[in-house]
Amino acid sequence: MYNFLPFAFFEDKFVPFAEAKISIATHALHYGTGALGGLRGIPNPENSNQILLFRLDRHCQRLSTSAKFLHYDISAEKIQSTIIDFVKKNRPSVSFYIRPFVYTSDLGIAPRLHNIQKDFFVYGLELGEYSSPEGVTCRISSWYRQNDVSFPLRGKISAAYITSSLAKTEAIESGFDEAILMNSQGKVSEASGMNIFIVRNGQIFTPGFEQDILEGITRDSVMRIAGDLGVKVVERPIDKSELFIADEVFLCGTAAKVLPVTRIENFSLPENRPITEKLREKFTAITENRDRNYQDWVFPISID
Ligand code: PMP
Repeated sequence: MYNFLPFAFFEDKFVPFAEAKISIATHALHYGTGALGGLRGIPNPENSNQILLFRLDRHCQRLSTSAKFLHYDISAEKIQSTIIDFVKKNRPSVSFYIRPFVYTSDLGIAPRLHNIQKDFFVYGLELGEYSSPEGVTCRISSWYRQNDVSFPLRGKISAAYITSSLAKTEAIESGFDEAILMNSQGKVSEASGMNIFIVRNGQIFTPGFEQDILEGITRDSVMRIAGDLGVKVVERPIDKSELFIADEVFLCGTAAKVLPVTRIENFSLPENRPITEKLREKFTAITENRDRNYQDWVFPISID
């Protein structure tokens, strides 16, 4: 189903992807004590000897921060230099996705983070357009986003994805494409693996960090692009009922980019989505290096 890139970085060296294997007794597999990254890259359409990675520095910084919750001291610089070597080793020729991962790698039982070995691996897969530009239908999930009282939400911790998985499967099995999760206060938080924005009367609103969202890098990019286009983005709590009457709703994340929402539960949203479309086009152009104003977001790696 997936085309994995030929080499993985595993146990401090590059090995063929099929040889990068962990034991069934690996601690993180049992306790969810891992943290993940996920970033996109493309071959530069203007230079076949160059690969472009979108917001590499931010992704490495976020993973290094997430690792702190695992009591694993790994710098953003170390993650970044490994990813650069990974790209040079694999020389991808189509759009791809990189998954760096930090985890408790010891074999054995008992949940803890002290006195336990940690490790870091990187692998990648080919990934083209992930979702249709026509948009998705969404269900309001019966599962709520975790709360920072009991879960370190400022990290991208693998254990969190049980909730995302329950919500996504619930949505799909009840005939929708995607799930929107409320937080424990009943305010809109995010989708199963994407942040959310709504448009009302020409203004864009999105839940702030205090609504238990993941600190999405696409979200950050969209907020800056919207501001540059002269559309103000306001971070504030969003009620469920606002979703149903919004002029536009869209989701965003690394894999899906900017994704329009066409219907939420039994409320159809307007078919005309001028702001979503403008942001989607601009974001895609930036990730494909067609917009010179955001060149600092596109990290070039030479592979010749
Ligand atoms: N929320 C969750 C739960 C996610 O898994 C993701 C994808 N990483 C996002 C939001 C979007 O984050 P980003 O734009 O950094 O990919």
